[in-house]
Amino acid sequence: MIKRSFFALSKPRLTYDLLDADLKAPETIPVPGSLTLLLPEAIDSTKKALITQGGAVKKGEKLKLYEDSTAYVLSPCAGSIRGFDSYSDDFGNTATYILIKPDPTKTGAEDSAEFKPAEDLEFAVNYLGQLPGALPFALLADENTTIKTIVITGADTDILSDACQYVCTAYADEVVEGSRLLKRITQVPKICITLPEKLETQANFGAIQALKTSEVYPATLPAMVMKDHLDMVLPAGKTPEDMGVCFIRAEALVSLARVFKTEQPVFEKIVTLIDKAGNKHRLTAAIGTPLSKILARFNVHINDQDRIIIGGPMRGFATFTPHHPVTPEMDMVIVQDKDTVAELSDTPCVNCGECVRICPVNVPVNLVVRYLEADEYEEAADKFDLESCIECGLCAFVCKARIPLYQYIRLGKHELHALRADA
Ligand code: SF4
Ligand code: SF4
Repeated sequence: MIKRSFFALSKPRLTYDLLDADLKAPETIPVPGSLTLLLPEAIDSTKKALITQGGAVKKGEKLKLYEDSTAYVLSPCAGSIRGFDSYSDDFGNTATYILIKPDPTKTGAEDSAEFKPAEDLEFAVNYLGQLPGALPFALLADENTTIKTIVITGADTDILSDACQYVCTAYADEVVEGSRLLKRITQVPKICITLPEKLETQANFGAIQALKTSEVYPATLPAMVMKDHLDMVLPAGKTPEDMGVCFIRAEALVSLARVFKTEQPVFEKIVTLIDKAGNKHRLTAAIGTPLSKILARFNVHINDQDRIIIGGPMRGFATFTPHHPVTPEMDMVIVQDKDTVAELSDTPCVNCGECVRICPVNVPVNLVVRYLEADEYEEAADKFDLESCIECGLCAFVCKARIPLYQYIRLGKHELHALRADA
């Protein structure tokens, strides 16, 4: 069986891209005639819904499915609800698309929901969790988790991306202001920022400690930043949050600063698009904008078997539909022509050892994957250190047999957690 790979972008590199000195402003994509908001909760037909097809919505209105729902989205515009659709991610987790028809005539004050920003966690959890950049306020407010250090990601975490560097450089003052607000809201004692060591910037981050990261992938992934800069080793199976460290996009802080400055919610997400020819386009689009509208603006035509990847080439995931929307955490979209997509095969492992040599945390990948292929997740974890994997994707990148190692590992970890939750 031949499967399509995430990889083989026109020219993969294993060093991070550095931001161009020319800070070209993003191109603004107009709000389209239909928005799609991704709500991380599945429809439950046994419950009475709070929102229905045809219902009117105000700009900034909080939309949730049921009275007891914690998941919500804010509507980026006034208009009406066109309908709902179901969404399933690559692990089978289900969610809901809320389709909104904007009404461009509704621009009055009465067409916006009441919004009074307050510097407290309760307001942040209830209204600021869906800002561009995806501030993790639910996590920061979780009483079972004590965050002592926030790391702002000013250095991009995947190759080919310069989105985080752009935000830090172009909007440094707002990053600083957002971090002050975040500190007041959360009381987290320490805030630092990752910056590429080779990035030449005049940006001044004041009292925020700069962590200068190497240009070599995967130096900016959370586990590596913790090891290299915070002197903390992430134990197998633990998350940075378990260790009191929370990683937050710089853009999220810019959003926070703008919310408190304008006393309005913000919806414009900065996204980097890499087209089939490898050209990079920086743009802003309202959360909920279908990718198809962005692709059309840049004359990117999707043909059968072309691939749309959300995220970077090493760690991104493919979406099956160009109608998938811009979400608060979407930094990068890559489009690959079917002719440039590398083939993955079901060729058996040839024991070349490349995956083991390149793994930054010494996982015996060739052995792990044998257990994962046989759905033996507990054994893969207990005997071969599955949970030490930091999900860099390097093993799949170098695999001579083109085995989808990264996908196997991510799925294996997901299944392992599900098994343990069930137990
Ligand atoms: S993705 Fe592969 S190379 Fe990267 S840490 Fe995990 S096992 Fe190692
Ligand atoms: S890189 Fe691929 S072929 Fe080589 S040992 Fe690892 S799994 Fe086997």
